[in-house]
Amino acid sequence: MSSTQLSAVGVFGGTFDPIHYGHLRSALELCERLHLSQLRLMPCAVPSHRAMPHCSAQQRAAMVELAVKGESRLMYDGRELQRNGPSYTIDSLMELRSELGESVSLNLVMGCDAVLGINSWHRWEEILDWAHVLVIARPGWQLPEQGEVSQWLAQHALDEPHGLVEKASGSVYIEQLRPLAISSTEIRNLLASGQSVRYLMPEPVLDYIEEHGLYEIKKRERT
Ligand code: ATP
Repeated sequence: MSSTQLSAVGVFGGTFDPIHYGHLRSALELCERLHLSQLRLMPCAVPSHRAMPHCSAQQRAAMVELAVKGESRLMYDGRELQRNGPSYTIDSLMELRSELGESVSLNLVMGCDAVLGINSWHRWEEILDWAHVLVIARPGWQLPEQGEVSQWLAQHALDEPHGLVEKASGSVYIEQLRPLAISSTEIRNLLASGQSVRYLMPEPVLDYIEEHGLYEIKKRERT
């Protein structure tokens, strides 16, 4: 699909250690609700604000690729794996902007836990120069009611999503999606204690985890 056919593109960055249905279902619902032509799932190589992932960047990327197979609106975006050093979102947004052109609406997707710490991100105040920010409400997390991030949200938040396509960047929109209380942390813990994670993630991702013996998976029968 060439950028001339695109009106709104989403980019969903994360560690994806591993990817699960909380990520995938949110991504698909955003495509449908906000009429995104495509949503790119972009694993980070070296996260800049959290502990090192349990799996290599290549393994996390392979799981994202397996997870989006067959859904044409969801795409794997490996750009952060091609760069050296910490994965700064601003660098990816600038690259995407130059690929998509000035007029395509670019939407950086993040869960509400991620937005809480956005003011510690590298050059965070420039993010809205390149993209909109789409915040997904996430079970167990609240948006801040005071402080720098709360002010930033209030200053840029749209009440209606139309503004996301009227301009290419510059606004924040908060979307309530189907709440799915699934996290990668819980999946890693279940695997490490020998419990099943079936139906929390696509089966090909689970097969990959088992084949590669990821997450200190305890041997058990998958029946
Ligand atoms: P971990 O438990 O290791 O912190 P995670 O499940 O939060 O992982 P990440 O890869 O860190 O997954 O998250 C990538 C992005 O997806 C973040 O913006 C996060 O808020 C969002 N996200 C993760 N799980 C969900 C979910 N169940 N619903 C909505 N958003 C989610």
